Amino acid sequence: MKDRTRREFLAAGGAALAAAPLAGRVLASAPYAPPPAPAAGTVGYCIVGLGRVSIGQFLPGLRYAPHARPTALVSRDPGIAAIIARRYGIEPRHIYNYANFDRIADDPAIQAVYIALPNALHAEYSIRAARAGKHVLCEKPMAANSGQAERMVEACRRAGRKLMIAYRCQYEPATLRARQVARSGELGPLQMITARYGFNISPTFRLMGETRPEWRLKRALAGGGPLMDVGIYCLNAARFISGQEPAALQAEIGNTPGDARFREVEENLSWSMRFASGLTAACATSYGASLGESFELYGARNASLRLDPAYGYSSHRLVAGGAAPRLDFTPDFSGHRQFGAEAEHFARCILENREPRTPGEEGLRDMRLMARIYAAAGVKG
Ligand code: NAD
Repeated sequence: MKDRTRREFLAAGGAALAAAPLAGRVLASAPYAPPPAPAAGTVGYCIVGLGRVSIGQFLPGLRYAPHARPTALVSRDPGIAAIIARRYGIEPRHIYNYANFDRIADDPAIQAVYIALPNALHAEYSIRAARAGKHVLCEKPMAANSGQAERMVEACRRAGRKLMIAYRCQYEPATLRARQVARSGELGPLQMITARYGFNISPTFRLMGETRPEWRLKRALAGGGPLMDVGIYCLNAARFISGQEPAALQAEIGNTPGDARFREVEENLSWSMRFASGLTAACATSYGASLGESFELYGARNASLRLDPAYGYSSHRLVAGGAAPRLDFTPDFSGHRQFGAEAEHFARCILENREPRTPGEEGLRDMRLMARIYAAAGVKG
């Protein structure tokens, strides 16, 4: 079955998980069978937060990560944890909750944690995991603000543990090809980027037959609105593909008067960035409208690149335009391979004692830039 994009998934209120009771879905999908264990060994992941991304994406993605295994779970819902544990062959003694979380320190089956909690909880559980001696793979955005992100980097440094931010697109072949072409000079000096990612958010979502309020609309849990959630993909792609850092930026926010969803976070946000080379970027994100998910890059040789879809879970397509050498590339990277690729990369970094390609410092750069974007739009920090 072709994966749905994340935007479609969220817009449908997580219906892919909710359409049938989870147990039914779990039984209906292919049973989890770990890939053959390589001689170099494997890294045991403790999954912290059993919600949409961990159940629907990351855990199934582990079948594409030969050096990774799901070995423990952290959840506030024992019923959900028991279903997922059975599905992935995790013994009950490796199931934790948020009160006894620190006991993971004594669990030798865990080498790394995967943090898939609401944004404002990333820092607390990343720091506690590092203090428990575990390496940390944390979902994007890295935290709810840059102060929290700084503390995460410092805690992992002090504990001598690795910290990686789950920028799955940086492990996705079409994005990597776009980066290679952009930096090859084929397009000429880079002139302009346009990027969009937005969807119409529902105030609630359904998970395992239960209706839950969407924490993405609560500032205290999300830290911000669509910029933190999906606009970050545009920001990160602009930096990653061009290889340049923004020197200046401007931003505007617009909220529909009276729309109760946007009492605490922004609805529509457009921002622009100028880079030292003269490259500029015009970006947009929204929780009020479906903007699609695109990334375009224009060079001085009348040549361009277009990634569309650019940020979803599968089917990324990279097309060159104008005077650029012909290119129409859709990698065979469907299923949950993006999540498998990032889990595998981090596992290899742990086993081989290498630094991840998307370390905490990379997440921190985006956090600081998003703080500047909000400040430019007049949002008080
Ligand atoms: P979700 O709401 O589906 O899951 C969040 C989990 O946190 C749930 O298991 C929930 O029970 C738990 N939780 C613990 N304390 C909570 C609290 N106080 N309030 C609410 N939930 C609490 O969220 P999600 O969509 O899976 O997102 C989780 C993280 O993953 C976010 O940081 C999000 O930005 C990120 N994410 C990344 C991708 C990606 O493609 N990389 C996709 C989706 C989400």
